[in-house]
Amino acid sequence: MNLQSTTTLSNGVKMPWFGLGVFKVEEGPVLVNAVRSAIQHGYRSIDTAAIYENEAGVGQGIREGMEEAGISRSNLFVTSKVWNADLGYESTIAAYETSLEKLGLDYLDLYLVHWPVEGKYKEAWRALETLYKEGRVKAIGVSNFQVHHLEDLMGAAEIKPMVNQVEYHPRLSQKEVQAFCQENGIQMEAWSPLMQGQLLDNEDLREIAGRYGKSVAQVILRWDLQNGVVTIPKSVKEQRIIENSQVFDFELSAEDMKRIDSMNQNHRVGPDPDNFDF
Ligand code: NDP
Repeated sequence: MNLQSTTTLSNGVKMPWFGLGVFKVEEGPVLVNAVRSAIQHGYRSIDTAAIYENEAGVGQGIREGMEEAGISRSNLFVTSKVWNADLGYESTIAAYETSLEKLGLDYLDLYLVHWPVEGKYKEAWRALETLYKEGRVKAIGVSNFQVHHLEDLMGAAEIKPMVNQVEYHPRLSQKEVQAFCQENGIQMEAWSPLMQGQLLDNEDLREIAGRYGKSVAQVILRWDLQNGVVTIPKSVKEQRIIENSQVFDFELSAEDMKRIDSMNQNHRVGPDPDNFDF
């Protein structure tokens, strides 16, 4: 397994296990350089969203990165998400077109319903199904869906979500969501895998990291992969972009995996999908 290794989604599309996140990175050279440098250093997957208001810079970083790395669009996997205000059939299709335009791309590899807004996500999902059936997007999925949201959606859907992107880190290991996803062929993907930096001085993780000669960030990201979860850590710093990706040259023991699993406290750093208001 290496930085470009992929998992095969339920529709046969190959998605890299590892990618770069760009939440909270504003338009400008820092953003463009982060995306460029990730691609130069071998990343093949980039995760953005309409609400991040940075799709134009992500697109520029992608174009520059592809040119420098000598790769083509088909070598990359680009994800974006439809924001809550745009959930609806026509409005979701229009939002997809706006995202493509900003990114300067003619298709996305993965398009997600960003949050399970009650009473709205099924219409949005119908739009994603249309985009998918028309061949305008390679794969479709959801984000922040709990088991009951997935069951509700799948009861009405023609096409099953291929991915569910959720908050996931050693303090929130989402066992129920993961078991449901596994049973239903839905690939789970971790957002805030590093708990937005808040776990990096944890003593237990430091002790484990020390034994492998790795950083805490690397241990957490390796734990994601060994648990079968796609991961997209965010950094705008080249050294960290490199560091985060160097997780394919060691393996956590079963005992250390268990130890990290046991750190779960069902603790969120982001909003609760069952109780959000935006
Ligand atoms: P992460 O858990 O990836 O943590 C990012 C933070 O950790 C940044 O402050 C970064 O700082 C720092 N960091 C990164 N690598 C290292 C390192 N090796 N050592 C020390 N510090 C480090 O948080 P995010 O919330 O950004 O989540 C990742 C991605 O998930 C997002 O960027 C976004 O794409 C997606 N996401 C999706 C959501 C959804 O609702 N679907 C919600 C939230 C995120 P610096 O940049 O300065 O290095």
